[in-house]
Amino acid sequence: MPAAPDYPTFVTHLECSMTGKTYEADRVHGLSEAGRPLLVRYDLEGVKAALDKESLARRTGGFWRYRELLPVRRTENVVALGEVTTPLIDLPRAAADLGLADAARVIVKDEGRLPTGSFKARGLALAVSMAKEFGLDHLAMPTNGNAGAAMAAYASHAGIRTTIFCPEDTPEVNVSEIELQGATVYRVNGLINDCGKIVGEGKEAVGWFDVSTLKEPYRIEGKKTMGLELAEQLGWRLPDVIFYPTGGGTGLIGMWKAFAELRAMGWLTGPLPRMVAVQATGCAPIVKAFEAGEEHAPLWENARTIAAGIRVPIAVGDFLILRAVRESGGFAIAVEDEATIAAQHEVSRREGVLLCPEGAATYAAYRQALADGRVGKDETVVLYNCATGLKYPMPPVARALDRTQPIDYAQFT
Ligand SMILES: *Cc1c(COP(=O)(O)O)cnc(C)c1O
Repeated sequence: MPAAPDYPTFVTHLECSMTGKTYEADRVHGLSEAGRPLLVRYDLEGVKAALDKESLARRTGGFWRYRELLPVRRTENVVALGEVTTPLIDLPRAAADLGLADAARVIVKDEGRLPTGSFKARGLALAVSMAKEFGLDHLAMPTNGNAGAAMAAYASHAGIRTTIFCPEDTPEVNVSEIELQGATVYRVNGLINDCGKIVGEGKEAVGWFDVSTLKEPYRIEGKKTMGLELAEQLGWRLPDVIFYPTGGGTGLIGMWKAFAELRAMGWLTGPLPRMVAVQATGCAPIVKAFEAGEEHAPLWENARTIAAGIRVPIAVGDFLILRAVRESGGFAIAVEDEATIAAQHEVSRREGVLLCPEGAATYAAYRQALADGRVGKDETVVLYNCATGLKYPMPPVARALDRTQPIDYAQFT
């Protein structure tokens, strides 16, 4: 058991997301006995008594400001790399182009500003801090890139060893940043679920701890802060619709959990947003299950998309994603890679906001949903740009100028 907390913390227990069976806090946990994600539960009355919106507003930025709603007990175990509150950026030209009503806004929440350039920092900061609290000394994970980079950075900062497996076609920049930030990284001739199998099977032989999406309870608590932060930034009133690029779904599940907790605390008024899970047509298990009315999403064969972060053929938290989407009155939608690329170009050129492919997929999905009427022109939407566009290949530029020849200035007018 840890020593007495030096900061008020409110975790009471953990709970199986499938069966509701409870598990003791302050112990190392993976999945529940039913093989499903564990959710952290808090004494929300206690949080409410310890924290009010005014004192919260006086704290510095970044997700550690929500400490009372996070699981880390001891401040010395907080692993931080300079987290910021990620900005909300309006897309006024897009709103005009799309013919939105005056009061409606299109907002990008730009998660590319976080350490390691993606929102994976939120989840991994929490998972690594909890690993430190439990004294774990070797962490392993499968990754499509960004999660591995975030885990490598936070774990190295905490002095914890990491071994990471990624599909062999993971972009070079991701593999390099993982290795450079202190992890040992392997390319595997398979997809992320194949990498996950290696991590799972190595647990006995190596003794590493499996930090795969939703296979430990704390990444979701970190991703939850996306929802807490959005609510606070918008004055505790949420938008009509949230578009979220969905791979393993941690962020969507986490935000839905955040809204439930804030609601239980009486901090949120008004309706909750409709949650939209965005996938690529080349890997859309959640969309398929949503449309079929199923509770689970079987393995998607031959998963293929340029948006690597959402190339997740099977998700342990499938039923939690589908529940959140359905409870919220939202939907799941798939977009073609061509539409994603077009969206990336459009938003970069028109708004000066360089989205990552996954973030661009949310804009493409939004356009599609406006066209088919599932989202109205009078509604405010938030699109999650989950990583900086700078980490991804960009189109080459061939335009050049020969300074040794007379320059025709008319060409610039
Ligand atoms: C991980 C990731 C996603 C998917 O996030 P989940 O919460 O796991 O569904 C989307 N985009 C990018 C860039 C990612 O790194």
